[in-house]
Amino acid sequence: MARPPLQQVLILVYCIYFLRHIWSLALWLFSGSNMQNQNNQNGVFSAVLKGKCPRCRQGDMFKHSPVNLKGFGAMHRYCPSCGHQFEQEPGFYYGAMYVSYAVSVGVFLVTSLLVYLLFNNPSVTAYVIAVGVVSALLYPLNFRYSRIFFTYLFSGVKYEPNRKE
Ligand SMILES: [Zn+2]
Repeated sequence: MARPPLQQVLILVYCIYFLRHIWSLALWLFSGSNMQNQNNQNGVFSAVLKGKCPRCRQGDMFKHSPVNLKGFGAMHRYCPSCGHQFEQEPGFYYGAMYVSYAVSVGVFLVTSLLVYLLFNNPSVTAYVIAVGVVSALLYPLNFRYSRIFFTYLFSGVKYEPNRKE
C-alpha cells in the first residue's frame, strides 16, 4: 500500500522543524553560557560543542575544522591555551571507540527510521545505502565528539579557568 504524498510531505516538514529546534537549542546553549560569564568563558555545553580543552575551556582540542577531510582527526598534543596534555597516557583514547560505537548505533537507528518513514519501507538496499552514506558523512563528527565526550566524562580533569602554564 503506497503512502499518500501528503503524509510524506508532512513527515518531511516535521523533520525540518525538528532539526530547526535542535539548532536553536544549540544556539541557546552557546549564547546562554556566554551571558553567564562576563569574561567570555565557555560553559560546559558550549565547550563540548566547540571541542575545547576540559581544563581551561579556551584552547581547541583539534587542530583543524571537522570539514577538513585530511586533518579533522588531528589533535593538539597540549592545549594551546593552558598546556594541558590531552592524551594523558598512551592509549587513553582507545576507550573513545566505545562512545563512537554507541553514536554509530544511534546514527544507524535514526537513519533507518527516517528511510522507513520517508520512503514507505523500501528495499533493504536502500537502507544499506542510506545508512552507509549518512555514517560516512558524519564520520568526522563522530570521531571528534567521541573523543570530546570521552575526555569530558573520563579524564577526571577539573575546570580551572585561570590556569596557565
Ligand atoms: Zn586548556
